[in-house]
Amino acid sequence: MAPAAPDNLLHTLERTFGFLTFRPGQEAACRAIVEGNDVLVVMPTGSGKSLCYQLPGIVAGGTALVISPLIALMEDQVATLNSLGLRADRIHSGRTRELSRTAALAYRDGKLQFLFIAPERFAVPGFVEFLARRKPCLIAVDEAHCISQWGHDFRPDYRMLQRYFPLLRPAPIVALTATATPVVQNDIVTQLNLQQPLRSIQGFRRKNIAIEIIQTPPAARPAVVIQTLAEASRRPAIVYVPTRSESDALAVTLSEHFRSAPYHAGLATPRRAEIQDQFLGGQIEVIVATIAFGMGIDKPNVRTVIHTALPGSVESYYQEIGRAGRDGLPSRAILIHSYADRHRHDFFFNRDYPEPDVLDGIFQLLTSKPIAKDALAKRSGLDPDLFDTALDKLWVHRGAQIDPGENVTRGEAGWKDSYTSQTERRAVQLELMLRYAAADCCRMAALVRYFGDRTDTQSSCGLCDFCAAEQCIVQRFRDATMSEVRIARSVFRTLAGGFAKSTGKLHSEICPDGKIDRDGFEELLAAAARAGLISLQAAVFEKEGKQIPYRTARLTRDGESVEEGEPLHLQLRDREPRSRASRKSVRFSKAHLSKAQAPKSRPQNDLSNRPLLEALRAWRLAEARTKKLPAFRIASDNLLHGIVEDQPRTEEDLLAISGIGSSFIKHYGPAILRIVSTFE
Ligand code: ADP
Ligand code: ZN
Repeated sequence: MAPAAPDNLLHTLERTFGFLTFRPGQEAACRAIVEGNDVLVVMPTGSGKSLCYQLPGIVAGGTALVISPLIALMEDQVATLNSLGLRADRIHSGRTRELSRTAALAYRDGKLQFLFIAPERFAVPGFVEFLARRKPCLIAVDEAHCISQWGHDFRPDYRMLQRYFPLLRPAPIVALTATATPVVQNDIVTQLNLQQPLRSIQGFRRKNIAIEIIQTPPAARPAVVIQTLAEASRRPAIVYVPTRSESDALAVTLSEHFRSAPYHAGLATPRRAEIQDQFLGGQIEVIVATIAFGMGIDKPNVRTVIHTALPGSVESYYQEIGRAGRDGLPSRAILIHSYADRHRHDFFFNRDYPEPDVLDGIFQLLTSKPIAKDALAKRSGLDPDLFDTALDKLWVHRGAQIDPGENVTRGEAGWKDSYTSQTERRAVQLELMLRYAAADCCRMAALVRYFGDRTDTQSSCGLCDFCAAEQCIVQRFRDATMSEVRIARSVFRTLAGGFAKSTGKLHSEICPDGKIDRDGFEELLAAAARAGLISLQAAVFEKEGKQIPYRTARLTRDGESVEEGEPLHLQLRDREPRSRASRKSVRFSKAHLSKAQAPKSRPQNDLSNRPLLEALRAWRLAEARTKKLPAFRIASDNLLHGIVEDQPRTEEDLLAISGIGSSFIKHYGPAILRIVSTFE
């Protein structure tokens, strides 16, 4: 491929897209691709990633293949490109065979500049060979974190892609994602076999969001939300809560003070659209949303984002606070949590990731001879929900093969390692979130580091509760007592000369009498760190195979020059004492989860409308066959039972059924409503 002159890129940027300049990272990525190099682009949502494959696609000539897991996204992209006068089409399960065929032929005849493809298409026999008859000018893999089981949205379809790419080379590959830690970045590079890719990882620093993190018990959190939002300049606001019922309840409480509404997947579509419109229009000032529900709200002037509980990963936390201050004006992100939040996470974790033994029990029942899923479930003796979850995981990790008729055969023995490392990774993600919340360092700099943004200066933000304690609105501080100041001076003396010491050792050396307990001591060190006198570093050591986190303290240059008689102004957080356990490493104990907490599954035996259930099952089987997917991937048994129970007449009714979302309705809504109506 001929190297494109930078002018050519710039010229096309202006002529085709109407943009006068590149955004950070775009130009280097585009240039590398037109020169035939592989590229990994990791930039936050809204930073302009699509241009990084669209512009090179046009400049290079030929057809760019774009692999994307989301039909809605594909449709949007194709519509945008078409509106710019570009020739783009797509192949995915939401289109008729005829339309997909037309798109494929247009590709073969060289009539397309962009062809979007859903990943599962690659598994269709002969499809890649067909594509390979005309080599693409580049291959873009959108939402590339889906390829990594370290990422939070692993998709087995994506894992297969690398098998097919050699046939399509020498086209350069550009992998794009908004959310990938350095581990995930490396995994993407390995999985896609990218050749010395340019890594464009940037744009994670948000300069207008002041982050504050406080520890508060659950019962006191609504009051903190009300207090925070009392000042009009802190609204509009998004409050993230962990469950739908909390969304409903908190919205009612807040309504006494502000115009508020809940926002979650359990609300009927028209109601949600209405709330969204009112929030965008300013009639609603505070929206109380569940974390699980991806919000399509792009409102530039959100002044505050509050989390009323600990998110499950730093990735999701970052995505959510990123909705504050899109207009660039000063905004706040406040996270309210306590150590008890871990239990809730443990609960979901245990529900979604059964013990490997449970999966193994199923695996042992499998042979190369197909067994019907229902018979397997019976033989396993497992609770139906647990069985479904376990079989799904076994399938994802290739321990089981399931044909469209729901017959199961034994898969690869290597599933266990793959599954274990994924579950461990989930545990680590939560631990990293806990550590992030507990760290005493600049909150924004820590986020930028988390995503491995090396273009960033790593400087302190000057806005967060570490950098600018005096500007905190929720956190309360008090002056250090005389005795605390004396202890701080001993710390400085002990660390003089540039030594780093673990904070545990420092405590036992300086306070052997226990005059100040370990939590108080840690807070005193945190205060000295906020004053810029010491730096605290998180570290980990291994003991008997366990990772044990600890912190070290070291004097900064300012700390070295503190004179004995000089007054010390230290401000300590006024808070409930940190729980002892919070310093321990995170482990997932199953013991403290009582059965009573488990979500109730639908009664599966007292269904009065058997014929409807059978009809739905037959429909599911047919869908599974055409899509070449196991039937439970189309709809779980629980979901079908929900339909039988609720007898939905409208899409709105469908949405009220647990497990049904808008994409399900888009695909299957009309068919299901048709079936239900014939059984009324
Ligand atoms: P991402 O995929 O990273 O979430 P998009 O590619 O959707 O972001 O881009 C976000 C917005 O930025 C789009 O409206 C796009 O047209 C616009 N955009 C992209 N690049 C530029 C640029 N160089 N100058 C101005 N606007 C741009
Ligand atoms: Zn900061």
